[in-house]
Amino acid sequence: MPAQLLDGNTLKEAMETEIAAEVAKFVQATGVRPGLAAVLVGSNDASQRYVRNKRKACERVGLASFLHELPQETTQQQLLDLVAGLNADPAVHGILVQIPLPKQIREEAIIRAVSPHKDVDGFGPESLGLLAAGHPRFLACTPYGIQQILVRNGIDPNGKHVVIVGRSTIVGKPLALILMQKAPGCNATVTVCHSGSRNLAELTRSADIVVVAIGQAHFLKADMVKPGAVVIDVGINPRLDGKPGVTGDVDFDAVKEVAGAITPVPGGVGPMTITMLLHNTLQAARMQAERRS
Ligand code: NAP
Repeated sequence: MPAQLLDGNTLKEAMETEIAAEVAKFVQATGVRPGLAAVLVGSNDASQRYVRNKRKACERVGLASFLHELPQETTQQQLLDLVAGLNADPAVHGILVQIPLPKQIREEAIIRAVSPHKDVDGFGPESLGLLAAGHPRFLACTPYGIQQILVRNGIDPNGKHVVIVGRSTIVGKPLALILMQKAPGCNATVTVCHSGSRNLAELTRSADIVVVAIGQAHFLKADMVKPGAVVIDVGINPRLDGKPGVTGDVDFDAVKEVAGAITPVPGGVGPMTITMLLHNTLQAARMQAERRS
């Protein structure tokens, strides 16, 4: 029987409705509109598209959004100065510096410069450290979106074996930390695999939930999946047939015949990333209001 489709677009719409209602309540109670500042350096097409989508999403849920576009030749010091200004600006509750940055700027230095209280991307050392210590503040948006896709589709990771393929700091590693939290909707047994892992197919076949985030089109084949397992595809790759559009890290047509549930690409994990950014920005505004009172 083909797998249940885990539809990220439908979930995104439902969550945006919830967030919009919460934003309206917050504005009424405090007189403050939560604001997200996006910083874009240079003219990377994908980044521009992504930042445009974030702005539209902010408008849909009633968040204020501030866009700072800087030229490709911006220096690290100029960007640090802008971030310092945003850290101090009370109208800005969340800051997002779009990565990748031009090569004269060390990404690490910029990520560290963002105030931990405005780190709505969840990439900063304090956010990651708090998560590792079991006291999370901001969860990285793509992994948080994956956890929401699971629990809001009635798939409780509690006690399940989750195998994550890919250990990046923006997806694999924070997802492992989220799903191993001793908390409702988490509490899984997590295995993290990477390019040095041996017997990968054996590991993925042992999973109740497989997450693939490596950036290689159609890498996960049907014989690497236990019948009935849940498959989450994070990959975004050019289509193999050369047509416009994107495809995932999972061989979707074959794997959907074996899996119990599966995310499509596009329309699975992707839409949830921006939704979780909206959620984190509202959370940041709430926390900053509490700190002031
Ligand atoms: P990344 O930083 O390039 O990391 C890739 C990871 O995959 C690394 O840990 C690497 O292992 C591992 N890997 C590569 N080939 C492997 C193989 N053959 N077997 C096992 N592990 C392998 O990638 P990323 O930033 O996490 O992104 C992964 C994919 O997700 C990309 O397609 C990206 O576009 C997509 N993505 C989507 C979203 C979304 O919103 N949907 C968000 C972020 C990323 P090593 O550590 O050993 O090198």
